[in-house]
Amino acid sequence: MAGETASTRPLAGERHRRRGAIQGRVPIGSGRLTIELVPETCWVSDIREVIPPSAWEHLRRRVDADARHRCEVCGQRGGEHDTECHEVWEYDEAQHTQRLKRMVALCHRCHQVMHIDRAGEAGAAHAALEHFAVVNGCGVGDAQRHRALALRRWRERSRHGWSLDLQALRSYGLDPDLLMHSR
Ligand SMILES: [Zn+2]
Repeated sequence: MAGETASTRPLAGERHRRRGAIQGRVPIGSGRLTIELVPETCWVSDIREVIPPSAWEHLRRRVDADARHRCEVCGQRGGEHDTECHEVWEYDEAQHTQRLKRMVALCHRCHQVMHIDRAGEAGAAHAALEHFAVVNGCGVGDAQRHRALALRRWRERSRHGWSLDLQALRSYGLDPDLLMHSR
């Protein structure tokens, strides 16, 4: 957006990340905005689609409250709700297990970067790359290279099947086994 300046937003994020580190939160990767595409051979990309709506609402509210209603990456508020709830997955390349690491609270713009593969129009994808560059303090060219790398990793990972591990939901007071069967 034209009204937001590149100089203020990363600083807000930086401050937020430091506070997060003190609270012992698990950082996402390097602690910056990344693009991580879920392989098309995975059973689940959105937890929202496989658990009951009431459980999703519980999860979303808890993640938002834990983050004090601010984006855990850039520190901004945003969107229809204070924050949007997103899955952080890790991939065990040896066992081919897709494991939920944690949930993360994101503003709408950071969330769009994470789902850049779903950005329908070229304009939306470009806006996402620009936001990536501002938050990470890099150029749009770096953002494009990061996206290309994510796409290459996605193609590689989409060549085989993955088993699913949602045990991390227990730390939010949800039983993954019960939830998956009650949907
Ligand atoms: Zn954000």
